[in-house]
Amino acid sequence: MKKFGFMAVLLFVFILAFPHNGQAAAGSAKIVLDDKEISLSGNAKVENVNGNIMIPFRAVGENLGFDVAWEQKTRTVTIQKDSTAIKLVVGQKTADVNGKKVAMNVAPILRTDTVIVPIRFVSEQMGLTVNWDNQKKIVYLYTQNNGNGNGDAGTGAGNGTNPGAGDNGSNSGSVAKVDGISFSDNRLMVAVTGKPKVNDFKMSGPDRIVIDFENADFSDTFGSSSLDQHKTGSLDVSGYPDVSKVRYSLFNDNPSTVRIVIDLNDAKSYKLTNDNGLYIVDLNTSDSGTPSKPGASGKKVVVIDAGHGAHDPGTTGITGKKEKDFNLAMALKVGKVLQQDPNIDVVLTRSDDTFLELKDRAKIANDLKADVFVSIHGNSAGSSAASGSETYYQRDASKSLANVLNKYLAKTTGLPDRGVRYGNFHVIRETKMPAVLLEVGYLSNKNDEAALFSESFQQRVAQGIADGIKEYLGVN
Ligand SMILES: [Zn+2]
Repeated sequence: MKKFGFMAVLLFVFILAFPHNGQAAAGSAKIVLDDKEISLSGNAKVENVNGNIMIPFRAVGENLGFDVAWEQKTRTVTIQKDSTAIKLVVGQKTADVNGKKVAMNVAPILRTDTVIVPIRFVSEQMGLTVNWDNQKKIVYLYTQNNGNGNGDAGTGAGNGTNPGAGDNGSNSGSVAKVDGISFSDNRLMVAVTGKPKVNDFKMSGPDRIVIDFENADFSDTFGSSSLDQHKTGSLDVSGYPDVSKVRYSLFNDNPSTVRIVIDLNDAKSYKLTNDNGLYIVDLNTSDSGTPSKPGASGKKVVVIDAGHGAHDPGTTGITGKKEKDFNLAMALKVGKVLQQDPNIDVVLTRSDDTFLELKDRAKIANDLKADVFVSIHGNSAGSSAASGSETYYQRDASKSLANVLNKYLAKTTGLPDRGVRYGNFHVIRETKMPAVLLEVGYLSNKNDEAALFSESFQQRVAQGIADGIKEYLGVN
């Protein structure tokens, strides 16, 4: 059974692409949460209200382990779990999320025995990824820390994995799971759930660094898109002259061993560190063999986060294009521009179509003590008319970064400026440095989508985002 991990308190507000003629069809729509259909009792059903998908709040909240309370007198629904409390009043377009006012595009509506809310709000405030399959009339909700079929292995005893923050409740038995691998700025990052035995060593002819994760396998979600049928794969490392290739495979069956090999163009020293399941192999070592930490010699550390990845495509555009692909293309371009600045050390949370949990994305930035964190996304709305860019912040410390980046975003996208907004997104809440989430444009809008996937648009906006980051940091 999937627990709703601490990280999974996402934010709520996708207006999904819901055709306006879908009113009747919507009523029979199903809701699937992490591959399990939610049973809707009584009159509870999915509805399309003026192009916004509305879903029964109680059914979804309870399935996520929230306590749901209804106060008839004030017509208020309160849901609560851990540190998250959300209050909604029927007919009111403003919700209260942990004491902050959050706007909804549609007010909650009272039906016979249930309150329905816009699914976009649920997604943004409860940390869910949402997808609407218009053909099959199914609302898909993903908690994101759901390892997708991880572990019916039932050997619950003895996998005493990291207590506290790292514990996302996945019951993967005793075999550790490699969830994601990424490489940027001569730094390999491997996100692992569980406790593998790790051996690292150097080999020569050709020079390479080998890291074996013994008693580990690839997670199902990792494997679904990043492995070929022989359980091998590689990362794109173009732009990093020290490295010719990063490849990975299920090297051994017994014990199950994941091997990652960094092929080097020149012999190089390295350092391997593990912080609570995030393994970092740092090639940025000085002659003494100690890594020159990002940020050494006064460099600013910028973490660029391409949203979603692998089995989590994000939203799907009006012509079927996937948000995760846009996010990655943009992040790589922003990274390339920033790399050219001698004052900046840039790190990407993912550099290919892999998946990292939200907590790992925040952890990367926190571990590196980054100066700035920017997460890149594409948006979606129920009305195909919605168009433009938005910049989200969660903590007050991020406001001025949001203002600067929104200025550049509006200028370089040429799309309507939808402004700076508050959003309770995990990655910008749990990071400790100024952090923003950019919704560059709407994949649900024909013009926006075409722009988002055009090479010249991406290049121009990447330059704008990089310029904004530099202006904020006061470099150049
Ligand atoms: Zn997204």
